[in-house]
Amino acid sequence: MASYILKNGVVFAPLSQKSDISLFNCGFDFVGSPSGEGQLSLPTVLDISGCVVFPGFTDVHVHFREPGFSYKETIKSGSSAAARGGYTTVCTMPNLSPVPDSLDNLTKELDIIKSDSKINILPYGAITVGEKGEALSAMEDMAPYVVAFSDDGRGVQSEEMMLLAMQRAKKLDKIIVAHCEDNSLLHGGYIHDGEYARLHSHRGICSESEWKPIERDLHLAARTGCKYHVCHISCKESVRLIREAKKAGVDVTCETAPHYLLLDESNLKEDGRYKMNPPLRSKADREALIEGICDGTIDMIATDHAPHSKEEKSRGLERSLMGVVGLESAFPLLYTFLVKKGIIDIDMLIRLLTLNPNERFNINSPFNFEDDGNFTVFDLEKKYVIDPSEFLTMGRSTPFEGFEVYGRCRLTVAGGKIAWRENLTEN
Ligand SMILES: [Zn+2]
Repeated sequence: MASYILKNGVVFAPLSQKSDISLFNCGFDFVGSPSGEGQLSLPTVLDISGCVVFPGFTDVHVHFREPGFSYKETIKSGSSAAARGGYTTVCTMPNLSPVPDSLDNLTKELDIIKSDSKINILPYGAITVGEKGEALSAMEDMAPYVVAFSDDGRGVQSEEMMLLAMQRAKKLDKIIVAHCEDNSLLHGGYIHDGEYARLHSHRGICSESEWKPIERDLHLAARTGCKYHVCHISCKESVRLIREAKKAGVDVTCETAPHYLLLDESNLKEDGRYKMNPPLRSKADREALIEGICDGTIDMIATDHAPHSKEEKSRGLERSLMGVVGLESAFPLLYTFLVKKGIIDIDMLIRLLTLNPNERFNINSPFNFEDDGNFTVFDLEKKYVIDPSEFLTMGRSTPFEGFEVYGRCRLTVAGGKIAWRENLTEN
């Protein structure tokens, strides 16, 4: 077994128990290294001067596209990108082919995860068969193997179906994770129904298409007592509804994504890399989301990492597919534009990226560095420009291309193994 000693770094301690630890001693296997019983090996010392050791991040919302769409992303490329972004656990959405709506179909995804993943991947099971919203999936069969249930990519349109799903999930003690979108209110829209859409003659997506289903589901969650989590909230009404529901005791949590916190429709250009679902909304929406982060209404930040091929993203705002990549830029962007600007502190950011998702989704304690071997090391002073050509994800489309950020991931250890390493000197 190869062992490693990290020296000269600082270990991040949450909840204001900041302690500087100059020597962080840890033994773990190097991925792919030869190891053997009884073989004498001296520890390799990695110098992490000037870096901070954080618990590995958790992203509860990614699309790794396999099985079914491996021309967009694979478990291997997606998990490599996650590790490069500091993530040690991600939850993969079920809009795949086949959709994991039965144990058989889920096993196809689990097999690829087992052979190809560099980090901890927890798949979602679909709520309905084929994510079609017509019949419940084999939720009982899948429950022991999935992190939660979601039909992400589309909303469950029927209230009756959502009620059945919540009743079933409640019995199984699983979370319903909802992509909230009312198809009857879309009217062919593809960017936010706001000023930019009007000025440039685009068809808009109204905020109501998001908050109406949230409102419906919050009532159902209150009625059933089901644990309910809302995906990628993007507008001010959603923040308000969830804030009120939390006050009323509904078991609800939610996430937003870096692009909704840092960009709005004023940043739009006629380019597919600004197109995702839900869309970039107004300045007032963005400010309401920041407020929701600060007052704890929004529990976590997920990337909604959704890679597509170059061609699929090259058809402008109207015709490109929806979705952008996010795993390799999330931490530096949030650190640069929220923490360094004094909007939230680093403790809060680590809560949003690790503690809160792990607590809600029952994922291993993130702060137990040595036992779990899930941590990431960032050089927070390193300044650089986001360059998608460096990405390990197969997707290249991000609205943050060219942004100058601080914080470079130097090392990620997942499950005791090095999953990413960059420019670390050995001595
Ligand atoms: Zn979604």
